[in-house]
Amino acid sequence: NQITTDMSSLTREVKKFAEDKKLEIETLKVREAYRKEFMGNVSHELKTPLFTVQGYILTLLDGAHKDKAIRKKYLTRASKGVERLIYIVKDLDMITKLETGDLHLRYENFDIIDLIQASFDLLEMKAAKKNITLTFDIDYEEPIYVRADKERIQQVLTNLIVNSIKYGKNGGTTEISIENLIKNKVIVRVTDNGEGIEKANIPRLFERFYRVDKSGSRKEGGSGLGLSIVKHILEAHGEKIYVESVFGVGSEFSFTLEKSKEAPDQRVIPEIT
Ligand code: ADP
Repeated sequence: NQITTDMSSLTREVKKFAEDKKLEIETLKVREAYRKEFMGNVSHELKTPLFTVQGYILTLLDGAHKDKAIRKKYLTRASKGVERLIYIVKDLDMITKLETGDLHLRYENFDIIDLIQASFDLLEMKAAKKNITLTFDIDYEEPIYVRADKERIQQVLTNLIVNSIKYGKNGGTTEISIENLIKNKVIVRVTDNGEGIEKANIPRLFERFYRVDKSGSRKEGGSGLGLSIVKHILEAHGEKIYVESVFGVGSEFSFTLEKSKEAPDQRVIPEIT
């Protein structure tokens, strides 16, 4: 009897071991597929600007450098290509840090209205090129203090505003509004009256490298990582991102932030004696 009991418990152990191993192998397989897909996407993204830059350099070496005007034109284009490569590499670096948990958030208390204003100031020129007006719809005179990683939230705002400009129509508007929510939260909305997104594409927007219009948005110069970075940053904060869009009418991306009860941390300026 004892032997039968021992045997059945041993069988159970062996079965469990085999199941665990199977699960481990499945996880490794999924990871490997994910890695392959990621590498494939990365090289695909880098190829286009690299070939462009190489094209200009080869043409210059082939004799085009003799003409001063052409030399300047081709060098400027090559430099734009390099700039684009830098953007892509920076985005890749950020996504890797976010996905491996290597990005540590530096929480501080700050006024979100100030940060929105600063983001508008940064992007004013870009918006002006498409005659897009950046507006702030806010009833509050008072500052709204939130607690988050200021630099990362600025990146969230920048990515969303840049998209609203890229996919906005000439002469359009990007509006930001803030609303108080219950439970100590605020919701920040970035609304545009641009091209909008078809319903079927909405669930995939936050995937890495996903673009609705492959050729169109590449022309706009993105890496296809912007929204994925936004989602990761907000999730790392324990916050959420929402999207509502009507094709041909416009889109609204909104996210939550935690309000802070305290005023911003004072930066101590050392006294010079
Ligand atoms: P990209 O670098 O291509 O802009 P994102 O991750 O920032 O990458 O966005 C993914 C895709 O979502 C874009 O290619 C575009 O098709 C769509 N998209 C993002 N924001 C908007 C918007 N405000 N209006 C319309 N489409 C948008």
